[in-house]
Amino acid sequence: MKRNNKQVFENITITAAAAGGKAIARTSEGRVIFVGLAVPGDVVDIEVYKKKKAYFEGKVIKFHSYSDKRTKPVCGHFGVCGGCKWQHMQYAEQLVFKQKEVTDNLLRIGHLELPESNPIKGCAEIYRYRNKMEYSFSDSRWLSLDEIASGKEIENKYACGFHIPGMWDKILDVKECHLQAAPSDAIRNSIRDFAAENGFSFFNPRKQEGLLRTLLIRMTSLGEIMVVVQFFYDDPEKRNLLLNFVKERFPEITSLQYIINGKGNDTIYDQEVILFAGQDHIMEQMEGLRFKINAKSFYQTNSVQAYELYKIARDFAGLTGKETVYDLYSGTGTIALFIARIAKKVIGIESVPEAVADAKENAVSNHIDNVSFFVGDMARVFTEDFIAQNGKPDVIITDPPRDGMHKNVVEQLLSVLPDRIVYVSCNSATQARDLALMSEQYEIASTQAVDMFPQTHHVENVVLLKRK
Ligand code: SAH
Repeated sequence: MKRNNKQVFENITITAAAAGGKAIARTSEGRVIFVGLAVPGDVVDIEVYKKKKAYFEGKVIKFHSYSDKRTKPVCGHFGVCGGCKWQHMQYAEQLVFKQKEVTDNLLRIGHLELPESNPIKGCAEIYRYRNKMEYSFSDSRWLSLDEIASGKEIENKYACGFHIPGMWDKILDVKECHLQAAPSDAIRNSIRDFAAENGFSFFNPRKQEGLLRTLLIRMTSLGEIMVVVQFFYDDPEKRNLLLNFVKERFPEITSLQYIINGKGNDTIYDQEVILFAGQDHIMEQMEGLRFKINAKSFYQTNSVQAYELYKIARDFAGLTGKETVYDLYSGTGTIALFIARIAKKVIGIESVPEAVADAKENAVSNHIDNVSFFVGDMARVFTEDFIAQNGKPDVIITDPPRDGMHKNVVEQLLSVLPDRIVYVSCNSATQARDLALMSEQYEIASTQAVDMFPQTHHVENVVLLKRK
């Protein structure tokens, strides 16, 4: 059937969840259609808006019946905000699809032989699990269809929230976000409302003007809270007015800081972070280790589940205290420090100098002296010479970014041939590709998927490789 010249498929059943948070339906000819906001088991009419050779993309225009895998989304922004694509799916089902994605990737991309996998490790807390949120201010809020349809003049166009997916200059004004614990919502809403009431200008990325740029809120399991407000230029009077308001209204904030960033983009990594009140960092702890986190430090965003992930990696590593271990892509050194007590020594390699500085500081403050950290690009640092100098690894733990490992790094792993490799991945597609390159020398002894991000389609996977 055609509607406005667009093809419509009627009474079609959603069959699966796809990578990227979309759902999949198949036409009677077997062609795949990707749709958003549907759940496997829904029966729907789909209007196609994009046709590619291999697949179509469409949107649901009518629901005939709803899947029993559904649940009611808790957030009023669900469907518009790009953050939680799966809030309408029961958590147990989210886990089924995450497990399936990982297994499918290892089988289809890697053509790997798999042992029976351990059941995916889900989260005890499926909301309020993030320790870090970043919001953008904007003077041109994303308007809802109802607002536009009302024809009324929009008075308040200010926003503090998230980018609308695919629109770099449009910000959804977030009133509630269920991913971070209180007082996160209250901090964001109060700052936005206070700023609007007091005539502050909000950033406009097209015109490159406006005082308020971004807001960062981080918190730890020790109850420490960091707030960093980023301004586009310095206006000491307004800056003090706002930060004093925040300080008085939220005495629980332990680190209140700001940045004056006049650059084109709003990344803070090359910016000076200035202390306004409290400390310039917050402290996190894990199994007796204490980690210092500053505004720029990397720390896994779900602290509770990071602990589960690290325990799995540590179990897979099978350490007895005699091993030399390499921690590749070591970030701020959390994995290295976490396993140091049961290893002879641990060598971390990481490309971001600030992360390596944090890792070294964390080692000293935790009185751990059998770890060393090196900075640089993995393919350049992790070489024959480096291994000759630092000792041949018995076990390698590798935790690369989404792109996976550079092929030279995989080659280097194959030339060192440690007894065990523990591969922690946030993208099982690139993990499968890398594992395939190692499948002649290594067998997959164990795999374990771990969900760090409920309500989203993201999933981590840990694989243990043993020498054949
Ligand atoms: N294992 C750490 C962080 C893993 S995230 C933890 O659990 O906290 C991946 C890390 O790889 C990031 O810190 C990133 O800066 C680093 N990285 C990315 N590309 C790299 C490269 N080419 N060489 C070395 N490190 C790299």
